[in-house]
Amino acid sequence: MPIRLLPETTVNRIAAGEVVERPASVVKELVENALDAGATRIAVATAGGGLSLIRVSDDGAGIPEDELALAVSRHCTSKLGDDIADIRSLGFRGEALPSIGSVSKLTLRSRTRQAQNGAEIRVEGGEVSVVRPAAGAQGTVVEARDLFFATPARLKFAKGERAEAAAVTDTLRRIALAFPQVRFTLSGPDRQTLEWPATDAGEDGRLARIAQVLGSEFPENAIALDAGREGVHLSGYISIPAYSRLTAQAQYFFVNGRPVRDRLIAGALKGAYADTLASGRHPVAALFLDLDPRDVDVNVHPAKADVRFRDPGLVRGLIVGGIREALGVSGIRPAGDRGAALAEAFRPAPTPPAWGERTRTGAGAFRAVRAPSFDPASSPQRPLEGWGGQGFGETAQATFLVAEPSADARAGALPPVADAEGSAHPLGAARAQVHANYIVAQTADSLVIVDQHAAHERLVYEALKEALQARPCPAQMLLLPEIVDLPEDDADRLGEHAETLGRFGLQLERFGPGAVAVRATPAMLGEVDAQRLVRDLADQLAEDEGPEALARRLNAVAAAMACHGSVRSGRLLKPDEMNALLRRMEAVPGSGTCNHGRPTYIELKLADIERLFGRR
Ligand code: ADP
Ligand code: MG
Repeated sequence: MPIRLLPETTVNRIAAGEVVERPASVVKELVENALDAGATRIAVATAGGGLSLIRVSDDGAGIPEDELALAVSRHCTSKLGDDIADIRSLGFRGEALPSIGSVSKLTLRSRTRQAQNGAEIRVEGGEVSVVRPAAGAQGTVVEARDLFFATPARLKFAKGERAEAAAVTDTLRRIALAFPQVRFTLSGPDRQTLEWPATDAGEDGRLARIAQVLGSEFPENAIALDAGREGVHLSGYISIPAYSRLTAQAQYFFVNGRPVRDRLIAGALKGAYADTLASGRHPVAALFLDLDPRDVDVNVHPAKADVRFRDPGLVRGLIVGGIREALGVSGIRPAGDRGAALAEAFRPAPTPPAWGERTRTGAGAFRAVRAPSFDPASSPQRPLEGWGGQGFGETAQATFLVAEPSADARAGALPPVADAEGSAHPLGAARAQVHANYIVAQTADSLVIVDQHAAHERLVYEALKEALQARPCPAQMLLLPEIVDLPEDDADRLGEHAETLGRFGLQLERFGPGAVAVRATPAMLGEVDAQRLVRDLADQLAEDEGPEALARRLNAVAAAMACHGSVRSGRLLKPDEMNALLRRMEAVPGSGTCNHGRPTYIELKLADIERLFGRR
């Protein structure tokens, strides 16, 4: 075939492949256009998850009749001067409308303030109509029907009405956070109506919008950010570590008011919390970065959701520093380098031997396994609980740590174990519980330290899964139903899955707008914080859509529940309870890691311990 210039419709469909990935991307482009036009009220309606209909109406500046044809033409924009580096609007590429028009049935109806009448233009699968007069108030209404009718291959990738409707909600939520003074509504036969009224200007307004979108409980658990460095400003809100979530979904990033998905920002946020959050937990955050438009490139991808910073190190440093400081100001101290703290703890204080080389080897070896959090400097000597009510008392650490092989029985440890008593088992015989969470066990040739919380969590998870196969799990009725306030769509999803959750023994129902009432919790979990449990489950349900997701979802729900029902660290265990836990762990496949993938125990070979002491 000779080289030729492709027809306009084909070119637009190629562009549409990148700009219009799914209904949510159409909503994003149309709402951005409305915002660029200075709208203060934006109404979005969808049907069929946006696949049958998307309608975005605004009260913005409108499009003059004689520019309607240009608006739907490729590379036509009213927003970009000649400097591509200086972008101050959300749109600038001039390809959203022609792209959408090439894969759907598009109607663009608009009226400017000066015009007596409105006008409209249609594009169907790339075919542009003439401009006709049309009735309407000032502003613009854009309608896209039958999305992807012209590109059936793309239609096949659609995830189903519910998932697409949810993606639209998520998109609008991200945009709404950045424009608190604009009133947004989202409605349609495929959803419950959402409305976010316009808020006041300034910081109060922003916080009010955050409460509207993320739920009123977030501000109560949030810390404000305000940090700047070399022309870059960071503001917004982050959750206190105790208010963490099971997924990173509730993290919202904005660069100069533009919602972005950015690995650098996400990574910096994660890094900032590294010492304060268990892995597998994620903070809730709305981070706003503002900087000179010339210092950030938004022209990375046609969807404009990726950015590149001219100075990534500066931005990363600002986020990590700003958040760490905010967390510190709020009284949470990072735990520090745990590996180093552990190695430090193993150092026999009174008579430092030739400690150079070998110590470093030892510390390295310990860092490779999961170190229990152990910070002698920060924890005032809590008495360690030993056996049968015998506390080790103050010297226990030293005793335990530098004990001679022959000094087993010292300071409250158990009498020597005969092999028959358990040291022949893979996880050995329990010897002590320290810091009310770590079981120390002895095998023939090693020392095993079990994180009892993590281990128990895994066992509960496996038991829940097993129980599910058989029959519904028993439920524990609450004396008073517990009301949990949540964002509307979370409450919705929970309500929808009430029956599934019921099988786990969690009985809940919708309770008016934005709330659910919990009537019973799974008996297997014992005392649980129903609020936290329900929120984690909402996260879990939001994460996993898709038709074949039920089995996966059941497991995920079981995992989330197990985490709540587990023996919290802090519970003192009797010797036979400890040994029972060890034996259960040996019997249950997969119990070497907790549900979040962290190890449930570490094993230190005697040989390694001897190396650490310079005996080898
Ligand atoms: P871009 O937003 O990149 O300029 P679009 O294809 O999205 O490209 O829109 C083309 C042009 O149509 C815009 O530059 C703008 O002038 C006009 N336009 C689109 N939507 C609206 C709207 N809701 N209100 C006013 N003008 C609009
Ligand atoms: Mg646009």
